[in-house]
Amino acid sequence: MADCIFCKIAAGEIKSNIVHQDEQVVAFRDINPQAPTHIVVIPRVHVASLNNLGPEHDHVVGYLVRVAAQIAEDEGFSEQGYRIVANCGPDAGQSVDHVHFHLLGGRSLRWPPG
Ligand code: AMP
Repeated sequence: MADCIFCKIAAGEIKSNIVHQDEQVVAFRDINPQAPTHIVVIPRVHVASLNNLGPEHDHVVGYLVRVAAQIAEDEGFSEQGYRIVANCGPDAGQSVDHVHFHLLGGRSLRWPPG
């Protein structure tokens, strides 16, 4: 999508610190990290929010979560623990309208989140 910052990152039009990319998903380090390791994992396909997911996205979303878990292992905190979270809509603080999952690790994470 033309005006989407995450589509531009996926297309390489905006520079980012990419840790994984393949035909379906791209993962890059968050510019405003909320944990020692904070990685954003996105599908290449543009979907504005979780509310817009359809059955055609089931495969890529499942794959995306598995990629995130693999990155957690690669980053060295899969045994210690981590969090994968998706913000949807204004009450959750979603600021980019392209479905994405945050992978947070490297510190103890409080529950429930604020
Ligand atoms: P959310 O607030 O859940 O929509 O998450 C969007 C995330 O994208 C935030 O944590 C931002 O810090 C991050 N972000 C926005 N622009 C960029 C960028 N150019 N490179 C890396 N992360 C970004």
